[in-house]
Amino acid sequence: MAQILVYASEPAEYAAVLREAAPGIEIAQASTRQEALAHLDAEILLSWGFPPDLLASMPRLRWVQWLGAGVDKVIGALAPDVPLTRIVGGFGGVMTEHVFAFLLAIRRDVFGLRGLQREHRWQKMMMQPLRGQRLGVAGLGSIGADVARMGRAFGMEVWGLSRTLPADGLVDRHFLPGEVRAFVAGVQNLALVLPATTETDKLFGSGEFAAMQEGTILVNVGRGNAIDEAALAEGLRAGRPAYAQLDVFQAEPLPAESPLWDLENCFISAHCSGPSEKAEGLGRFTAENLRRYLSGEPLLGLVDRTRGY
Ligand code: NDP
Repeated sequence: MAQILVYASEPAEYAAVLREAAPGIEIAQASTRQEALAHLDAEILLSWGFPPDLLASMPRLRWVQWLGAGVDKVIGALAPDVPLTRIVGGFGGVMTEHVFAFLLAIRRDVFGLRGLQREHRWQKMMMQPLRGQRLGVAGLGSIGADVARMGRAFGMEVWGLSRTLPADGLVDRHFLPGEVRAFVAGVQNLALVLPATTETDKLFGSGEFAAMQEGTILVNVGRGNAIDEAALAEGLRAGRPAYAQLDVFQAEPLPAESPLWDLENCFISAHCSGPSEKAEGLGRFTAENLRRYLSGEPLLGLVDRTRGY
């Protein structure tokens, strides 16, 4: 009987890191549902993408370490008394780069410059600096806080939205979930870094888009449920928001018939703003949690099952 089941596309990489942390521990590896079936007696599951319906068939399960920051795919299927931990601190850096890659590309009109170059046209452009603009960050957790800090580094005024008050000095102005419209109306750049919960479902819909300022850029790297996509397509056609960069969607892959694909002011990426950390970084976090589990210490990244994130 394996004590740990590692379920991932490259389970051997994680298993190697765990073996270093806990020599002698028995580790089973699986990357398909079929392979997982032979190891449902494991005590610990370390996974990204484990078939949720199999969780109910793991009678000895005592802990699940999810190899991602968002746990929406697993939380509903896991017995409430089994601790669920997620990765904290592994994604903020790269996801902040993703957010700012698009904010800068649009504000510096990188796409327009390429068009002029193709036509061999020497034409001065009026660029819009981020400095002095306002950045709104919805979700001020491990990732959103990094985005907020980078906004500050660019000389932006930073507004934040979350359920509880953030650490002192993280944002210039803070908004609660009931104040979404006032929050979006005040910023020119908006980054969504929210988890998928029933409360974040379609938090941004036609009313919020209509309240936006002219020229607003919306970037969503959290979860697709936060946006009413039909309303966003309408909003983009009307120029509110002026641009959107979407990394996450209500349904993934984004269906071919979605109008978002063909909107010139919508930039699509395939849920890839975050997961560039290879097994080593995530494995180190997990190895530390394994050490804690084995010695009875509190686990890192424990998900609050009532809040849902
Ligand atoms: P955290 O749990 O650390 O932070 C979540 C933040 O969202 C908190 O500030 C929380 O408020 C806030 N929040 C939750 N519910 C609401 C609500 N109803 N209204 C307003 N604010 C709310 O999460 P992370 O920062 O680690 O990750 C955020 C999300 O990013 C993940 O859940 C995941 O879905 C997504 N993600 C996407 C990736 C990608 O590749 N695109 C990769 C990794 C993560 P409070 O502080 O008050 O609790």
